[in-house]
Amino acid sequence: MGKIYGEDVPVKPAFPMAVSKKKVKDSGDKGLLLYIHVPFCQSRCHYCNFHSQAFNQVTFFWYLKLLLQEIELWGKRLKKPLLRTIYFGGGTPSLIPLQQLDQIMKALDKAFTFGSAMEVTLEANPDSAQDVSYFRALLSIGINRLSLGLQSLDDTELHVMGRPHSAAMAMQSFESARRAGFGNIGLDVIWGLPGQKFKNYIKQLEAIAGMRPEHISAYNLTVEPDTVMEKICAEGGNFKLPVEQEQARMFVYGAEFLESVGYMHYEVSNFARMGFMSAHNSGYWTGTDYLGLGPSAVSTIGRRRFTTPRYMDEYDAYVRGGLVGEDFELLTDDDLLKEMVMLSLRTSKGLDLKDFRKRTGFDLVRRQQQLITALRREDLVRINQGRLRLTKNGMLVSNVIIKRLAFDSD
Ligand code: SF4
Repeated sequence: MGKIYGEDVPVKPAFPMAVSKKKVKDSGDKGLLLYIHVPFCQSRCHYCNFHSQAFNQVTFFWYLKLLLQEIELWGKRLKKPLLRTIYFGGGTPSLIPLQQLDQIMKALDKAFTFGSAMEVTLEANPDSAQDVSYFRALLSIGINRLSLGLQSLDDTELHVMGRPHSAAMAMQSFESARRAGFGNIGLDVIWGLPGQKFKNYIKQLEAIAGMRPEHISAYNLTVEPDTVMEKICAEGGNFKLPVEQEQARMFVYGAEFLESVGYMHYEVSNFARMGFMSAHNSGYWTGTDYLGLGPSAVSTIGRRRFTTPRYMDEYDAYVRGGLVGEDFELLTDDDLLKEMVMLSLRTSKGLDLKDFRKRTGFDLVRRQQQLITALRREDLVRINQGRLRLTKNGMLVSNVIIKRLAFDSD
């Protein structure tokens, strides 16, 4: 089950302007997915429960030093593995000063083997990514895909979400990125907000699709405990969450609308124009090994699951104490198969039933006959060409269906 990294490979220039003059290997669909967690934000959004803290120079440079060390240690441990993708997520990666971002890319180039068609994504927020010159510099450093956190193009909605930018800033950010030469931009939008009406959401979606990004992620708001959003929703009044039926219309009609204007619905919350599916996320959903660096990041390599400590002092002890890659949880067949069901059913390709039978020795359709028959009757799942797939209505309640299919199949 384990994969072998560290082949000796000939290489060619990945990012001639910024990185080394070495050569890189054509990774195709091979190689490791690399994620770098950047745990800093300008302020806390009302709905957020991700791991992040307010940006300050001292903590950032502490983090940077540890991250560079962690990159080197993992590179050595895995013997300079081939990378398929790099993804800077957070937090707010666009808060990283350009010089330090370049330093991180160079450290990665030294410790790992870059694939020739490697997708390198950076999550950026409009408040910290405005100027054409900033985006040009990102391109020269080697970032070739942006994921812009627009979330909405309505100032009232942005205010309810506690976002530190306006709709005008969001559009400016997108425009600047285009003018700088970015040809692969994903925009994020959140729906199902307190006080949001179906019509408003569809108007949002029309405006966002009208900008013609290559990719759109449309996430349903999750109200997390102990967040400002939880309090806003509890107060009700004008800020009640849309009722279930309204949310269902938002999802189904929203998805149909995006498909009608050329976006493929390839995962529950993700849409892409032809050729622009996220290679990083697609790799993750199909069970490719991934390495996560930075505080709170998770890695899965073969059967080994590594979890990096969450807080800076623990992260410091982990990196400087030589604990990188030492402790892991060994995943069982059962864990891996449940993950396979959970991840593949979120995608439009669905679960390959024959492959599942081959790997587990049991027939999911037979084992879950009653449940699958009921779901098919309600048009929540379909089986065609040997694959079990969720329908649009099924995607709406994907968490419940996936949980029952994966966890009741013991
Ligand atoms: S920018 Fe993202 S990570 Fe940071 S607080 Fe907002 S939602 Fe959370």
